[in-house]
Amino acid sequence: MDAVKVKEAARRFGADLVGIAPLSRFDGVAPENDPRNIFPQGKSMIVIGRRIPRGVLRSMENASAVNGFYSEFGLFMLEDQFLAKTTYDLVIWMEAQGYEAVPMFGYDADAAAGFPLGAPVENGKPAPNVYVNWQLAAHLCGLGETGKNGLFITPEFGTLQRIAMLITDKELEADEVRTRNVCNDCNACKDGCPLEDTLCSRCTNGAVQTGFGRFNSVDKIAAACGRACLASLEARGLLTSKFSTPFRTDKPWKRDLLNRNIEEVK
Ligand code: SF4
Ligand code: SF4
Repeated sequence: MDAVKVKEAARRFGADLVGIAPLSRFDGVAPENDPRNIFPQGKSMIVIGRRIPRGVLRSMENASAVNGFYSEFGLFMLEDQFLAKTTYDLVIWMEAQGYEAVPMFGYDADAAAGFPLGAPVENGKPAPNVYVNWQLAAHLCGLGETGKNGLFITPEFGTLQRIAMLITDKELEADEVRTRNVCNDCNACKDGCPLEDTLCSRCTNGAVQTGFGRFNSVDKIAAACGRACLASLEARGLLTSKFSTPFRTDKPWKRDLLNRNIEEVK
């Protein structure tokens, strides 16, 4: 088993993105975010991603089906079923080759830090919850970068992917960390927010409140700020995934905290 075979298997099981990094790239991260505190025998981090269908963002952009299609095909069902199946299949395939891998969801590590689940098992070890920052892991595996709006951006799909991680005891050939920036500080995300970014937990513009199981984090990919980012990335021709129609064809809708159309209230 080598990196090429792992990537082939991941793609066969449905992954659209795969990257690999040695765990030494996590040197310097806080103990509660260090994958070596989850699997001390681990050698490599594998990050896999499945793309979010652009069409579910389209339904949000047109406000014809707020949340319904996106929250399932773009978030909960995609992450909990499709990506989980890809992750599981890859782990089991690796075990059949004689190597172990710890699968992990790409949940918000900062939010997880607010959920301490117990005491350290011995002196010198961090208390649970130890949770790897998936955006850092994906970056170190060469998949992309975190944009100014806090969303993870890849040159393939922009903001449209869901990520999972595997820590394995197999040393694998690493990918290079990408240095080319896709986020260019265009500020479309900030300009596209009808409210204020301190109000995300009450956002009425397409943000999804994830609930207790995901540490009550706010998913902003389909929110006004996230859609503005995708529109900007596409308009600048930065993404390798191409479509026959532009993502943004009309002025985006905007709602206030009372869920009223801002243009009508004015
Ligand atoms: S909208 Fe522009 S500044 Fe904001 S994250 Fe996207 S690329 Fe970066
Ligand atoms: S659009 Fe919504 S989620 Fe995005 S920054 Fe504004 S309030 Fe937050």
